[in-house]
Amino acid sequence: MNLGSTLYRKTMLAIAGSPAVKKLSLKYGRRLAGRFIASDHLQGALREVASLNRMGVMATLDALGESIRHPEEAKTYRDEYLKLLDAIADSGVRANVSLKPTQMGLALDAEACYHHIREIVVRAGKYGNFVRIDMEDSSYTQATIHIAVRLHREGLKNAGTVLQAYLRRSEGDARDLIEKGVPLRLVKGAYREPADIAFQRKEETLASFKKLVRMHLDLGVYTAVASHDDAVVGWVKEYAREHGIPKDRFEFQMLYGLRTAYQARLAKEGYRVRCYVPYGTMWYPYYTRRLAEKPANLWLVVKHLLR
Ligand SMILES: Cc1cc2nc3c(=O)[nH]c(=O)nc-3n(C[C@H](O)[C@H](O)[C@H](O)COP(=O)(O)OP(=O)(O)OC[C@H]3O[C@@H](n4cnc5c(N)ncnc54)[C@H](O)[C@@H]3O)c2cc1C
Repeated sequence: MNLGSTLYRKTMLAIAGSPAVKKLSLKYGRRLAGRFIASDHLQGALREVASLNRMGVMATLDALGESIRHPEEAKTYRDEYLKLLDAIADSGVRANVSLKPTQMGLALDAEACYHHIREIVVRAGKYGNFVRIDMEDSSYTQATIHIAVRLHREGLKNAGTVLQAYLRRSEGDARDLIEKGVPLRLVKGAYREPADIAFQRKEETLASFKKLVRMHLDLGVYTAVASHDDAVVGWVKEYAREHGIPKDRFEFQMLYGLRTAYQARLAKEGYRVRCYVPYGTMWYPYYTRRLAEKPANLWLVVKHLLR
């Protein structure tokens, strides 16, 4: 990350964390986040997924929520995901689901969190579907990996997690998780992390990202490459072509509302593409991470508002 983009990101995350800014944003509500959030409710999100599917793009649905404060909330989210998996099966859309460990109460009761996630994974398995456990800030990395590995040890192979290329530990984690057969989504990383545990320079994160992708592709392990960056997407296409790696050995993942035409174009070129589709009313933390990623995303919000 260069100094400018690091400063922008830190500033945006700090501004978004201020109670006054949050209050104001919530007041003006959904219109601000509309660009990045598919719908307030499940049925609306399924309609968006159906439309992505028509463009050849698959989806992963995220019922927005994180960092809950009461154990009862975790049960509500667990039930929402069970309902979501039933609805995906009923509607026949091509989608799996992504969830956040702190949404299932990881910070409150790790054992209960595990069992909520387990229940969701079991339901997904009934439909031949898949659950991705998103990766949150570094205080949860080890516990999240532990959940994914424990599920696999129990024979629940239809779950995977995420590794963040900016974390120095990710190369070692990738080696270990590939060996254990845990499917991984690779991302740059969206949180503010200190220099002793995370690369701060853009070039270092990119190099780490490429290393993680190469580890997968060279071993013939299916991987999900989640990035909007041409320096990543273009490079993966080139690497796969040069090494004769078939297009069904990996997929590209991008976020709802970002580079939509590009997602459709990649699908048309025969690549597997999956769009991360968030829905629900708990949109504020997700939305602020998108704004912090790059000034251009802030501009997308302004354009959306002006329309
Ligand atoms: C499907 C998905 C799931 C994710 N899950 C997680 C997770 O579990 N945990 C986590 O920490 N993070 C997650 N992230 C976020 C991720 O870590 C990054 O913060 C985010 O993807 C921004 O990095 P980037 O590689 O997309 O590109 P950036 O670093 O934002 O941008 C790099 C370059 O890419 C190009 N670019 C980027 N966006 C656009 C655009 N909209 N239009 C045109 N060009 C563009 C530009 O050239 C830009 O300079 C996820 C991201 C995706 C796509």
